[in-house]
Amino acid sequence: MRTGLGFDLHRLVEGRRLVLCGLEIPFEKGLLGHSDADVALHALTDAILGAAGLPDLGSLFPDTDPRFKDAPSSLFLREALRLISEKGLSVHQVDLVLILDQPKLAPYREKLRENLARLLGIPPDRVGLKAKTTEGLGFAGGEAVAAWAVAVLAEDGA
Ligand SMILES: [Zn+2]
Repeated sequence: MRTGLGFDLHRLVEGRRLVLCGLEIPFEKGLLGHSDADVALHALTDAILGAAGLPDLGSLFPDTDPRFKDAPSSLFLREALRLISEKGLSVHQVDLVLILDQPKLAPYREKLRENLARLLGIPPDRVGLKAKTTEGLGFAGGEAVAAWAVAVLAEDGA
């Protein structure tokens, strides 16, 4: 087993779609970034890459590359899954914490979790997803969304 940790943060701004865990969430603001700025998939992809000893998301998919402009971040995750499979590794389990004051994620949590499981090709009971607020501190007031992710990889045949 190998474990990796990922973190990411994007600013919430008007005039952007809010995409989390690969799904669009109805909200008046979205995350600013070169790709779709899916902070959850970025943290998760970095955790997977880190567990496999591969370069991080920013090195593999530079935000100066026009190919990734407004790209769905599931593309980065898929490429990370391909890279780890080349090393004989697969995702066994993941756990994520999203940190945001708004919007409230409770109504979407199960859908987001199921979508993560679908993207990863693992059962939903191996995907943890929690949403936490900052209790009105830090980047409160809906200025940003942050995400932490842990990924556990298994070696094929182990
Ligand atoms: Zn990011």
